[in-house]
Amino acid sequence: DLLVVGSANADLVIGVERRPAAGETVLGSDVRVHPGGKGANQAVAAARLGARTALLARVGDDGHGRLLLDSLRSAGASTAAVLVGGAPTGVALITVDPDGDNSIVVSPGANARLTPGDVREAADLIGAARVVSAQLEIPLETVGELVRHLPGGSRFVLNPSPPAALPAEILSACDPLVLNEHEARFVLGADGRAGADANGQAGAAGANTGGAGDRSGTAPEDRARALLELGPRSVVITLGARGALVADSRDDTCVHITSPRVEAVDTTGAGDAFTAALAWRLGRGDSLPDAARYAVRVGAAAVTAPGAQESFPTPEEVAAL
Ligand code: ADP
Repeated sequence: DLLVVGSANADLVIGVERRPAAGETVLGSDVRVHPGGKGANQAVAAARLGARTALLARVGDDGHGRLLLDSLRSAGASTAAVLVGGAPTGVALITVDPDGDNSIVVSPGANARLTPGDVREAADLIGAARVVSAQLEIPLETVGELVRHLPGGSRFVLNPSPPAALPAEILSACDPLVLNEHEARFVLGADGRAGADANGQAGAAGANTGGAGDRSGTAPEDRARALLELGPRSVVITLGARGALVADSRDDTCVHITSPRVEAVDTTGAGDAFTAALAWRLGRGDSLPDAARYAVRVGAAAVTAPGAQESFPTPEEVAAL
């Protein structure tokens, strides 16, 4: 029912007292290796909720790739469309200091080799999906090819992360575009109408072109409406502990959905859990606000436990909130 198209990474996490300067070596904690990447995270989150889920992604023929495949399978996601080989599995090298601040180096590896040709070869799978959910940790051309293969009557959900200038063809396919406040600022600053070209890497500060361009201090409601002007049918802005804002061009509504109050332990992957839950519920026929009401509970549950995929809730855990 749900097809996720996106990245799969091994997250290698080392605790450090402080980060090394150039030319310096510091000792850190034992390395912890976690399955991650936004695509794999979403697939695991949805499958754990009980969604019939497949992931279209690429991993390397290596131990990290096997870790990701195991995590997907044990959550109940289909790995039939996880392509293997061509480059090492994507890796995120994460150092965490005593204040909890992260420094991250990402090696996209196999994710960068998920090509438009891979999308064409998966045309049957794409054609059978009710909902297709993608992010931007794979090449933008691959996402562009994906939107050209979406079947009529299906729904396309995009989390533009890491944020990039989006071509109109992708923006207008989104229903909804799901993004946090940082990503919303970027997409508005890059202004998909005036500035974006398919390869654009317009900086967040760089391309404020006016029109729908962003201003600091803009209320989330105004941002949501400005994002709608870029072409998506609907927009969901996630607001962390404050929940989410849902804006729909069809009925010109903008609704704030509050999140349950929880003790936040680790917010890693909260947005992925939210988006996966939202996409799945849309595929089941929920209205956008109803799907978001479920998704904020899933996101909130995900922050109550450490890690990303390890923290994603079962339906029972969502119901217990
Ligand atoms: P991202 O992880 O992409 O930055 P957010 O921080 O907006 O996204 O979180 C996504 C969703 O996770 C929120 O809409 C909310 O439902 C939930 N969430 C995140 N942080 C908290 C929190 N501290 N308390 C309750 N819910 C949270």
